[in-house]
Amino acid sequence: MIECLNFCDGKWQKPSGEEFHVTNPYNNEVIGKTRASTAKDLDNVVAAAAKAQLTWRECPMKERAQVLFRFREILLRDLYALNHDGLNEPGENKIARQISSECGKTLGEAQAEILKGIEVTEFALSLQNLDIGGSLEVSRGVFCEYRREPLGVVAGITPFNFPAMVPMWMIPIALALGNSFIWKPSDKTPLTSLLIADALAQAGLPRGVFSVVQGGRSTVEMILDHPQIAAIGFVGSTAVAKTIYQRASQNLKRVLALGGAKNHIFLMPDADFELTTRGVADSFTGCAGQRCMAASVLCAIASSAQEQAKIDKLIAGIVEQAKQISLACTNREYDTGNAKNERNANDERTMGAIISTDSLKRLETAIAKAKENGATIALDGRKPKVPPPFKNGNWLGPTILDHVKPGSHAAVEELFGPILSIIRCRSLDEALEIQNASVYGNAVSVFTQNGGVADYVARRGKAGMVGVNIGVPVPREPFSFGGIAASKFGQGDITGVHSLNLWSDVKKITTKWAVQKDTTWMG
Ligand code: NAD
Repeated sequence: MIECLNFCDGKWQKPSGEEFHVTNPYNNEVIGKTRASTAKDLDNVVAAAAKAQLTWRECPMKERAQVLFRFREILLRDLYALNHDGLNEPGENKIARQISSECGKTLGEAQAEILKGIEVTEFALSLQNLDIGGSLEVSRGVFCEYRREPLGVVAGITPFNFPAMVPMWMIPIALALGNSFIWKPSDKTPLTSLLIADALAQAGLPRGVFSVVQGGRSTVEMILDHPQIAAIGFVGSTAVAKTIYQRASQNLKRVLALGGAKNHIFLMPDADFELTTRGVADSFTGCAGQRCMAASVLCAIASSAQEQAKIDKLIAGIVEQAKQISLACTNREYDTGNAKNERNANDERTMGAIISTDSLKRLETAIAKAKENGATIALDGRKPKVPPPFKNGNWLGPTILDHVKPGSHAAVEELFGPILSIIRCRSLDEALEIQNASVYGNAVSVFTQNGGVADYVARRGKAGMVGVNIGVPVPREPFSFGGIAASKFGQGDITGVHSLNLWSDVKKITTKWAVQKDTTWMG
């Protein structure tokens, strides 16, 4: 069993609060334990972080970037080892295995999230070239300049579903800008934090500049109230994001809190069959539906019998595609390190487990409730057959609910599982009205061959991120990631060019030297 500690001033320390366990969603075996951090634990971490930041902020950004280059290399070499011909072969995959075992996703999905974290790191280490400030002679002999300056000690609080990627949306950028960073990982998936902290230390990050505090709600509240923490990045459910935003703002901290989602896909009768059926099936089943960019509602739009026939064919194709997705436990032995099994684990047509027994029960109840509300079950993933070693795991196969009523539970609530709710609509405007009524605003996608329709959805969809024939429209760097409405509280985005103001101030310097003393604004 792994013991998950705090990382304070470059050393591992046992938190002093209440103990809790970490389980593997594949079989619910306990694989780790940790403790909540107390106020004293946090004070020690913040004191070390504040001291280290005074030196870190004085490093030119080019020097900070060198640490991030080495961090990126360590992550890459864990994923891929170079052979004698300089070609990539599978690496040890220590981080991906850890993610998979505590979070339940497949090894391939865990590798993909590390790659996305690496992409953000590449953006952060490019800041030395991208964000170089500016200077202009604004009057004769008078120069205005802007410089970006770090805030000091900042913190990130992250959810269970991306134990490496979501923290890496924040860590490299905040560090590149000269802050000390304190990470509070999810209490459900804290084990990956050990490996990320280790990689940063190996990369040569000075001690104290990066820290980890373990814990749940009580630790988060201490972070929000700590007077020396200047800014908070949060990613998690909307209910928690809202309270984080309110409490941190009340304490006059800068805060960006990303919340939950209920993403809609607009299915038009002219959609390309292959692109659409595969794209929609992968979107709602990837990470077992436990990602904030997953498709959740499919608005199937048909205004005539002819269009209805096309839509029915597309829906049948989506059901067929979803049927081909198998549960990861049925075609591999979990975490054996066996090469054959690993090949299976990398097969993108497998789906991992649900994070907890509570979440599984919640999803099963939601399916039953949808049926009571008049939906038909086009594909039922409940109680799948799993091999004996995984019998105690949290398994749910892809599930498709058809003829879901607008406004019903399955149509409006974030389910966060591999469930697609299909709402039949007679026009695109009707579908947009349904989507616009959602409290959330993370992502929306349209599947069509008509550019005008795609543009109409991009304009009218209530979402921060829009996909055209893409089921999971995650913007790639340097474009920034973030929703609107109840999917995000605060200004800017969490990655890319729109994230910089969360972790830094822009200082304006206006200069005039004695030699130009006779010049004036009016001169
Ligand atoms: P969560 O809100 O339960 O937990 C997120 C973090 O907050 C964790 O670190 C947890 O320890 C802490 N926390 C939990 N309850 C708290 C409370 N009452 N007070 C203070 N802190 C608390 O979220 P989760 O279940 O870990 O993650 C799934 C949710 O995250 C989904 O709603 C999903 O849509 C959302 N999510 C959003 C994005 C995005 O980019 N918008 C990305 C990933 C996940």
